[in-house]
Amino acid sequence: MYSAPFEYLRAGSWEDAVAQLQRGGEDAHVLAGGQSLVPMMMLGLAAPPVLVDVGAADERTIDVRDGSLVLSALVRHVELEHSELVRRTCPMLAEAAGYIGNVRVRHRGTIGGSLAHGESTAELATVAVAHQATVRVLGPSGRRTVPASELFVTHLTTSLEPDEVITGVEFPLTAGHSGSCFLEMTRRAGDFAMAEAAATVSLDVDGRCTHARLVVGAVADRPTDVSEAARALVGEPPADAAITELARGVAEAVEIGPSVHAGVGYRREMVAVLITRALGTAISRAASGGTATSTNGHRV
Ligand SMILES: Cc1cc2nc3c(=O)[nH]c(=O)nc-3n(C[C@H](O)[C@H](O)[C@H](O)COP(=O)(O)OP(=O)(O)OC[C@H]3O[C@@H](n4cnc5c(N)ncnc54)[C@H](O)[C@@H]3O)c2cc1C
Repeated sequence: MYSAPFEYLRAGSWEDAVAQLQRGGEDAHVLAGGQSLVPMMMLGLAAPPVLVDVGAADERTIDVRDGSLVLSALVRHVELEHSELVRRTCPMLAEAAGYIGNVRVRHRGTIGGSLAHGESTAELATVAVAHQATVRVLGPSGRRTVPASELFVTHLTTSLEPDEVITGVEFPLTAGHSGSCFLEMTRRAGDFAMAEAAATVSLDVDGRCTHARLVVGAVADRPTDVSEAARALVGEPPADAAITELARGVAEAVEIGPSVHAGVGYRREMVAVLITRALGTAISRAASGGTATSTNGHRV
């Protein structure tokens, strides 16, 4: 199918993009990697009259600054997957990026586009909530930051205003012996996920859990933060029985929406399996050294 006609504009900076979006009216859209927007236009599901291409709005930078991994919104999935700095400081981000679509999609799609699109199965959304990431936003009234947990409203809907753009994302670094793991279930490699689990765990020198976060993705209309339940692990060396019980409890309580690919009961079972494996892997990664952090001013 062909898309409806549109006016194509190029922004030379994020400020320029905001000004062009304002001039284009509330149906004007940013074009980043085009891996979600263009298919929707070709299928007649979106018909923006104006597209503002932000490909030249800034450089695609990956830095560590003031205790956070700081990514330009234009960083592509393939760069997350292969960046040595991302793998060292925020390995779950690289792990999750490797699950996105196929190699063609990962070479064009951007982290800003993925978060702004608000697709409920998006791997990067689940990881952003698990890591308590902060999204940098620019609009006509200036800059603001939005916690990732407050960005996602429901399927394909975020708390961004029509003339606001995401300019970057910050992932706070974890200290000490920390481990993380992202897992998902798909029918075939590269398909959109039917269930996801993202876990981060920190251990003290005696192997006791000091911090645990857990987010379930791709089952409801946005990532579901179930970290409250994961706090049951804190204070003790995490035992297999406690992890299995926690996973069962979360899987029974979490909201699971319909999917054309599998029934609710099956996906509930899979949520329990994914949580058990993600927590187990995060714990063993933390025990074997975990993430080294706190290199400032590093750039790739
Ligand atoms: C075959 C296929 C398989 C896929 N599989 C997966 C998958 O498994 N998991 C997954 O998560 N995704 C998947 N995707 C989508 C892919 O990850 C997209 O790259 C991503 O969702 C959108 O990023 P983009 O840069 O391509 O954004 P675009 O498609 O250019 O834009 C998407 C939306 O976000 C808005 N937008 C983009 N950038 C910004 C910004 N900086 N500020 C404000 N608004 C912005 C646009 O206006 C548009 O509304 C798949 C896509 C395809 C075609």
